[in-house]
Amino acid sequence: MSENEELSGYRGLAFEALKKIEAEIGDLICITKGTQTYEGILIPRSEYGDEAHIVIKLRSGYNIGVQITPETRIEKIGKGEKPAFVAPPLPEQKPALPKVAIISTGGTIASRVDYRTGAVRPALSASDLYSVVPELSNIARIDTQILFSLYSENITPAHWSEMAKAVAAQIANGVDGVVIAHGTDTMGYSAAALSFALQNLPVPVVFVGSQRSSDRPSSDAASNLMAAVLAAAQAPFAEVAVAMHETTSDISIAIHRGTRVRKCHTSRRDAFKSINAQPIARVEGDKILMLTENYQKRDSSKKLLLKPSFSEKVAMIKFYPGINPAVIDWYVDEGCRAIVLEGTGLGHVGRRCFESIRRAVDKGVLVAMASQCVWGRVNMNVYDTGRDLQALGVIPLADMMAETAVVKLMWIFGQTSSLEEAKRLLEMNIAGEIADRTLYN
Ligand code: GLU
Repeated sequence: MSENEELSGYRGLAFEALKKIEAEIGDLICITKGTQTYEGILIPRSEYGDEAHIVIKLRSGYNIGVQITPETRIEKIGKGEKPAFVAPPLPEQKPALPKVAIISTGGTIASRVDYRTGAVRPALSASDLYSVVPELSNIARIDTQILFSLYSENITPAHWSEMAKAVAAQIANGVDGVVIAHGTDTMGYSAAALSFALQNLPVPVVFVGSQRSSDRPSSDAASNLMAAVLAAAQAPFAEVAVAMHETTSDISIAIHRGTRVRKCHTSRRDAFKSINAQPIARVEGDKILMLTENYQKRDSSKKLLLKPSFSEKVAMIKFYPGINPAVIDWYVDEGCRAIVLEGTGLGHVGRRCFESIRRAVDKGVLVAMASQCVWGRVNMNVYDTGRDLQALGVIPLADMMAETAVVKLMWIFGQTSSLEEAKRLLEMNIAGEIADRTLYN
């Protein structure tokens, strides 16, 4: 944290120097170093930088960092206005269009940089949204709700519950679809969570994020958002899905099933891939092309079943050569109800883990096996290791993604405390997360 919110990001020497002249972000300041003077608007800076640089925006528009020393003179020469973003007037709502609610939870898609100060702020109020993507008013009548302003690494199962309840409330209000704007890092987990928490959906619930914020020329925010709103408004499916670029170009947006999607690239716009499944649809311009016939149909007469409870007493352990099996014992002793092992290949962990797994199962902990390979199914009948693990009580997870399995078990133990019922629900397909056959390609 910076030492002062008003001097956001500044610490130490720079902070003291600015405090002395009572400068605030946005003020016009003049820095004199020897024969050089620099005049510009004081802007926020990274909290993780050194303590000696002051960042100003010059009249030319360029931002520069000036290193200060005890000899540097700094003066405040003008009081800055508080930065404000004035959105253009809202476009007219077209009464004949479907109604879509956009629930914002944070992440890059819900941020914009204020270029006067350099700060990032949430920008997903209705008016901001229309100003960023005015085309939305031709697709749907939009209502927006800011639920959280979080980077998605800070989202927890309690937030999934809140999201599920917020969606249910929007559906009860009669919307034709819901879009959830979300940080991309854990968007797959949230999409899986809502796939279990929102059953028998009458309308689509489409997560959307962006890899590049809306103020960058290469931003994917607008095209992803338009596709997500179009899918929410018109798509024939009524499931939880994720809408993100299908390729690096802007031409098509893939709609992935919420239980089958993973962020596979740190920065590319086509980071999201469906795992062991096809995307369910593709959006190109104003067209939605279904890529499978196997989907839950939109039907406004369906009654939503809201099951929003999750338990955090579930762990995921990735096996690696040299792992200390005591980590399994630790989770068991912490009162964990289920452990997902992310094993090698077809679903293996080394024999050094067997004793701890036996102990876990004996203590009534559900132990399940997913694969750390990205593609393919777990098959624990091929090698001795797999057979022996099954004999210990480990449950193979077929073609379920490890993170979906963790979310599913968190949801399961939010519904029941019975181990038998938990096993039954785990092996049952609830939201397209597990299939009898897996596409080879
Ligand atoms: N790490 C942040 C998040 O997942 C920002 C990145 C993003 O939105 O894609 O929310």
